[in-house]
Amino acid sequence: MSRPGTTPRTGSAWTNWARTERTTPLRVERPRDVESLVRVVTEAGPSPVRVVGAGHSFTGAAATDGILVSLDAVADVESVRPRPDGTAYVTVGAGIRLGALNRALAVHGLAMRNLGDIDRQSIAGAISTGTHGTGARLGGLATQVVGLRLVTAAGDVLDVDADQHGELFQAARLGLGAVGLIAAVTIEAVPAFSLEAVEEPWPLEQVLDALEGPDGLVESNDHLEFYWFPHTRRALTKRNNRIDPRSRSAAPPLGRVRGWIDDELLSNTVFEATNRLTAVARGVTPVVNQVAARALSARRFTAPSFEVFVTPRRVRFREMEYAIPRAALVDVLAEVDRWIRRTGEHVPFPVEVRFAAADDVWLSTAHARESAYVAVHQYVRLPYRRYFGAVERIMAEVDGRPHWGKLHWLDAERLATLYPRFDDFRAVRSMHDPTGRFANPYTDRVFGPRG
Ligand SMILES: Cc1cc2nc3c(=O)[nH]c(=O)nc-3n(C[C@H](O)[C@H](O)[C@H](O)COP(=O)(O)OP(=O)(O)OC[C@H]3O[C@@H](n4cnc5c(N)ncnc54)[C@H](O)[C@@H]3O)c2cc1C
Repeated sequence: MSRPGTTPRTGSAWTNWARTERTTPLRVERPRDVESLVRVVTEAGPSPVRVVGAGHSFTGAAATDGILVSLDAVADVESVRPRPDGTAYVTVGAGIRLGALNRALAVHGLAMRNLGDIDRQSIAGAISTGTHGTGARLGGLATQVVGLRLVTAAGDVLDVDADQHGELFQAARLGLGAVGLIAAVTIEAVPAFSLEAVEEPWPLEQVLDALEGPDGLVESNDHLEFYWFPHTRRALTKRNNRIDPRSRSAAPPLGRVRGWIDDELLSNTVFEATNRLTAVARGVTPVVNQVAARALSARRFTAPSFEVFVTPRRVRFREMEYAIPRAALVDVLAEVDRWIRRTGEHVPFPVEVRFAAADDVWLSTAHARESAYVAVHQYVRLPYRRYFGAVERIMAEVDGRPHWGKLHWLDAERLATLYPRFDDFRAVRSMHDPTGRFANPYTDRVFGPRG
């Protein structure tokens, strides 16, 4: 078996990063260009074809017992086209990892407008599941995409954007690889920028009281997120705002030692140790969370945007995340808290809360609705089904939409009620992949067999 999240050799088993999925593909293909990707599709015979990115989805989004394709070798920056407003259209191979993309953009004085909290994913994998960061005026990564080069089930190569094959573009830019294989992605990059990060532990009530309103935390920060530690009334707030790093008010960069203590030692090494402890002595979880919520002390620093957005995540966990109407957030957190107290469930991982603007991507979890994201995690050695199942029931009350790459149990029938453009998506899928050549058990479940 290959290392979790890496692409195996033909004949070996594949497992995702979270170790929730395991399959042995019939064959593994590693095309080096779009022509060889087309050949993989046209010579596949009856076998289904799925592309895997970095295997960082918690669901079986990428899994197949058919032909597993890695586009790790299709990862170059193809072109950078500056635009009069300072942005640029940047076309990259679909397999490029976000970390490499960020570094390549920086060389051109550019950056992604927003990012999630790690950079291990491939660009195509990230957009295909609706990967997002935080920011009430910003959408997920798929909203930054302005064009795609697709290989269809018929083996055609199509350049699609809002004007050419507009509906196919809409479906494929967040489509779980079920409408076409993405060979290249064009993003609208913005001029490089710095962020000032302010991270502070706050009482949870203070955070919840200050969230909304024109001067509230959500609207007055470019990127707000907070982590609530279950079994406590404490939260760690993170406010990231654009700043000119040369301005007198900008905080200095983080010292190397302080950065290592916070991001490596406390967030990874000590966190792994405390999670191992709670896995064998679950009763200590509330005490550990009390200590953890206080251990992360306040810090303020300025750095290039992608260094602020992204943190190393070495503690392995399982995750479920729901997008809910922003107005429902406080009630939903109260419900989750009530359930944990009532059942005595031990939850050593903090609950992460983020925000996004409404967008127009058909299957975006923030489609046509200002959203708050609530993510629950469980350490890899602890059972998660009861906790996540309870959270899923709470989310259902407010028409929550699950992240496509994170654990959930919804099916096509329920999802169709949550997305106004769901049938449009299925119609495009049926037209471009009528026999389900790009299907797998996960797409069968969430879209229905062959759309
Ligand atoms: C530690 C960790 C942190 C995370 N942080 C965040 C976060 O901050 N925000 C967030 O929203 N999510 C987050 N996620 C979830 C993650 O971003 C998504 O699951 C993402 O899809 C993973 O990208 P990947 O390259 O690993 O894709 P994979 O999981 O390998 O694939 C995802 C889907 O994309 C399809 N796909 C991949 N490449 C192509 C292609 N070229 N053409 C067509 N289809 C393709 C696959 O078939 C599959 O359906 C996190 C996950 C982990 C494990």
